[in-house]
Amino acid sequence: MMNIPMPVLPYAPNALEPVISEQTISFHYGKHLQGYVNTINKLVEGTEFAGKSLEELVRTVPEGPMYNNAGQALNHKLYFLQFRSPRKDNAPMGRIAATIDANFGSFEAFKEQFAQAAISLFGSGWAWLSQDGSGKLVITKEPNGGNPSRSGLNPLMGIDVWEHAYYLDYQNRRADHVEAVWELIDWEVVESRMK
Ligand code: MN
Repeated sequence: MMNIPMPVLPYAPNALEPVISEQTISFHYGKHLQGYVNTINKLVEGTEFAGKSLEELVRTVPEGPMYNNAGQALNHKLYFLQFRSPRKDNAPMGRIAATIDANFGSFEAFKEQFAQAAISLFGSGWAWLSQDGSGKLVITKEPNGGNPSRSGLNPLMGIDVWEHAYYLDYQNRRADHVEAVWELIDWEVVESRMK
């Protein structure tokens, strides 16, 4: 039984071009994410974790294949649902903008610090913007399939820096990819994840 569903993309597979190509979506969403979702469903079957939500699995399953696959299923759900078609002058507004300014000084300063985290992460993993228990915004790096909720944070936005996220479109140019992804962020979605 497939308890953990695939997230449904709220845009066409070519809607993120030219920042992320339809071909990358077909592999990244259609193959990689589908693989993580299939695997976590299979791994929890017949265990005490069957029937739990994805968010609960990420917080409670043991390290190893269960955490890796639950983490990646949640990471990619948050990732694919935070995008919309590219806009050159894309920037947050309202509460999320004010909170970013309060925590990082400015949107520009935040972007710089976030990009530095994404670019400096060695190997495969993620850079995240999260809220801690007091509502403060923090930038963290997670290796492999890690998700910030595992350590009690509330993830708001994540950038995938596994090579499968950008290699078809940018080859080894991770920094160029990270720079372009700012055009895609749907800041209303990010704000809706705030507590
Ligand atoms: Mn990925």
